Amino acid sequence: MVRALRHDDVVFMYAAEDEQAYADYGATVVGWGGAHTLDRVRRYAALGIHATGTMWCLTAGAEALHKDPDLREATCRDIEGKPIAVPWLPDHVYEGTPSWFGCTNHPTFRAHVRKQVANAMAGGAAGLHVDDHLGSAQSTANHAGCFCDACMAAFRLWLVEWATPGLLAEAGVMDFEDFDYRTLVHAYATTRDTYLEIQHTIPLHHAFVDCQLQLAAEHTRQLGSLAAEIANRPVTLSANTCLPHPEHLVVTPHLSYLVGEVAQYAESGTARLLETVRAYRMAEAIGKPIAATGMGWDWAYVKEHDLEALVRIWIALSYACGQRLMAPHRMWCFTPEKGTHWYQGPTDAYAPLYRFVRAHPELFRDCRTVGPLAVPPRIPADLDTHTDREALRTALDAGDPRPLETGDRLWIFPRERGDGTPVVHVVSLAYDPEADGVTAQSDVEIRVPGHIYGRTFSRAKAYRYDADPSEVAVAVGSDLDLTLRLATQRLWTTFTLVA
Ligand SMILES: [Zn+2]
Repeated sequence: MVRALRHDDVVFMYAAEDEQAYADYGATVVGWGGAHTLDRVRRYAALGIHATGTMWCLTAGAEALHKDPDLREATCRDIEGKPIAVPWLPDHVYEGTPSWFGCTNHPTFRAHVRKQVANAMAGGAAGLHVDDHLGSAQSTANHAGCFCDACMAAFRLWLVEWATPGLLAEAGVMDFEDFDYRTLVHAYATTRDTYLEIQHTIPLHHAFVDCQLQLAAEHTRQLGSLAAEIANRPVTLSANTCLPHPEHLVVTPHLSYLVGEVAQYAESGTARLLETVRAYRMAEAIGKPIAATGMGWDWAYVKEHDLEALVRIWIALSYACGQRLMAPHRMWCFTPEKGTHWYQGPTDAYAPLYRFVRAHPELFRDCRTVGPLAVPPRIPADLDTHTDREALRTALDAGDPRPLETGDRLWIFPRERGDGTPVVHVVSLAYDPEADGVTAQSDVEIRVPGHIYGRTFSRAKAYRYDADPSEVAVAVGSDLDLTLRLATQRLWTTFTLVA
C-alpha cells in the first residue's frame, strides 16, 4: 500500500538546492519531481522524504518539435487541421517553431511520454507526478483541439461504445460506425476562431469533451502502472489537478493524491478566500487530499508586493480545511508581461507555521470537517461526465455553505478526530494589505453551535504557532452551544476540547 498525503504533511513543490531547507520547514514530501536518479532517491529516503519523479504530457517542446517530423505530426489539431501552440509558452520557441500541444491519443506522442516516464523513474522513485495530465483533453476543453485523425478514431470508438438514442439524435446519424466528428463540426465552424466562439452550441460537444477527459484519465492511469513496473514496486501517482475546475476531476479516482493550483486571489487580499475554501472542500468531498499551490499570478503578486502575512493566512487556511498549501520555498510565478519567473519565499516568514504542524500531528491527522462545511451525505461517486461533475458542484453548493464567523472576519472551522476529539481552528482574515499584516483582536468570543458536537466540555486547550499552548475556559449553554473566550486572536488558533 503506497502512502497518501497526511493531514500533517509538509510538501515541497520542487526539490531544494540546499537540503537545510527541508529541515527548516520539516518537509515530508517533494511533490513535483526531483528524484530522477538512484542517488537522489537514496538521499530522500535517508531524509525521510517521500520523493517523486515527474514528466509532462503537454508538449514535446519546441526544439524537439523543430527537429523531429514524427513529433510534429503528433500534435493537437484544430478544425482547420493546424497545430495548436500552448498559449502560456509564448517564449518557448525554437527557430520559429512554437511549443505545440502534443496529442496524447497519438501513438508517437504517447511513446515519447512513456520514454519520459522511464527517465523520471530511472532511480526507482517512490512516486510519479504527471504534469499537464490532461494532454489533448486540455486542448479540447479550452483551445479548439483536438481534431487529429487519432482523436477522431478514438471518439468514434467511444461513441460506438456509449451510443444512446439521445447521442444518435444529437449527431443526426443512425449509428456511429463510420462517424467522423469533423464532418459534423464543419457544418457549424470551419475556422478555429468560429469554433471557439460557438463550440458549446455544436452537437456532441459535451460528449467530445467527456471522451477526451476519460481518455486522459486512462492514459494517466497507464503511466502510473508503467512507473510502478519500472520502479518494481507500488508507487504513488499524482497529477497536477487544479480544483475546483471540473475537468480536473475525471482523473482523480486513479490518483493517490492531488498536487495542483488552487486560486488564492492575491490581488483581492482575503476577500475571495471563500472560493479557495470551497476548492479544499471539494478535495475532501472526493476523498483525495491535495497539496496546493497558488496560481502563477498569485505568486507573481505576492512577489511584487512582498506580502508575507497574506501567504501565512493561505497556509493556515489550507491546514484548517484539512488540506495543505505547499511550502512557499520556490513557487512558479506568471504574468503575461514577465512570463515565467520565481518566488523564493523567505524561510523565516513561513517555516514556523509548518514546524507547528509537524510538532502537533494530533491537531491535524485523522480529522474530518464537521459543521456547516461538512461534506454532504449524497455526493456523486462518478465524475466521468459533464452531468456527473455538475451534480457534484450542485451538491457541494447546496445551501451556500460558509465557515462560522465571529469578531472581525474570524473564520471558525470545527473538525473532529477519528477518536471523537473536537479540533477547532480559528483563522483571521482581518488583513491589512497596506501594512501586509493581520490585525490582532482582543477579547474574542468563539461560539460553536451545540448541534455540531452535541455534548458538554469542561475545558479547552489553545495552540498557536507563535505562542505556547494555554488553557481556555469553556462555557456550555443549555442547548450545548459552546463559548470560548480568547484574550487575543492573531492569525491562527487551534483548540482541542476536553470533556
Ligand atoms: Zn489528437
